[in-house]
Amino acid sequence: MDIKNTHAGRGFRMEWTANRKCLEYSISTGKSYCFPCRLFARNMSAAQIRGHDAFVTKGFDDWKHALSKDRGFQKHEESELHLMCQEMLINKTKQVQDSDAHPCVAATLSTLFRDRQLQRERETSDNRKYIGRLSTVLRLLMRLG
Ligand SMILES: [Zn+2]
Repeated sequence: MDIKNTHAGRGFRMEWTANRKCLEYSISTGKSYCFPCRLFARNMSAAQIRGHDAFVTKGFDDWKHALSKDRGFQKHEESELHLMCQEMLINKTKQVQDSDAHPCVAATLSTLFRDRQLQRERETSDNRKYIGRLSTVLRLLMRLG
């Protein structure tokens, strides 16, 4: 199905998923969702997913602002909620040794791998960025617990 034509160029564009492996589009609802957040955030409270429920349960269809920096995909991708759900997905994938991982997992894992390679090449102990992200997740988990 040609989604672009279905929405006369105003709806979801498949090309958006090229750089956003976590982004999904549901033909049945005509909305997009975030794969890890849809899986792991759906059982969280309304307060926890506030501002992101479009990507978790309701479905996102604010196409006009989809690529805006202060709303839409990018805002969601940089949120604590998304980073946490992504980590949960990666951990889950590692547990089940799923060789047929979702493209979102594969993309994230390869980014992590590349980051580590770069670190090694630089021969520095500057992994603050990675640790910073983990501590964000841990902080959020503690707050949730
Ligand atoms: Zn997400």
